[in-house]
Amino acid sequence: MAETIFNKIIQGAIPCHRIYEDDKVIAFLDIGPLSRGHALLVPKEAAVQLHELSEESAAAIGRVLPKLCRAILSATGAIAYNVLQNNGPLAHQAVAHVHFHIIPKFSEQSGLGIRWNSGKLDTSEGAALADAINKELVM
Ligand code: AMP
Repeated sequence: MAETIFNKIIQGAIPCHRIYEDDKVIAFLDIGPLSRGHALLVPKEAAVQLHELSEESAAAIGRVLPKLCRAILSATGAIAYNVLQNNGPLAHQAVAHVHFHIIPKFSEQSGLGIRWNSGKLDTSEGAALADAINKELVM
């Protein structure tokens, strides 16, 4: 995996506004915030996309994420927020290291803007697709 800016932050080679760190994850403020308190939760494991992450790192993310959200809400006074996780350049991933955005939403104008291009799920196609995905699941 190529060296990324987040790897450099994890190694302490470049600074960040650190919020939390343990042996599996680090959280820090986003340098280009969409709103006040916009933070990133990053596993230390060098995985590019979420589906490549080990169960151990995924569990560590799951353990920390709600606590981090609570702390951001308390510190900023926000009552709404988005958790965003981009995978692949087409899906707006700029840094090739798994990361979760926590983005407080203070108003319609601030925070994450979303265009939701919803369609309509066909019943029989939905059943086949759910079944096909289920068959691919390795639990
Ligand atoms: P993404 O589009 O999901 O890959 O988002 C990458 C995020 O990383 C962006 O919101 C950037 O502002 C943020 N970012 C890039 N470099 C740094 C840095 N050195 N410290 C903190 N955040 C950063």
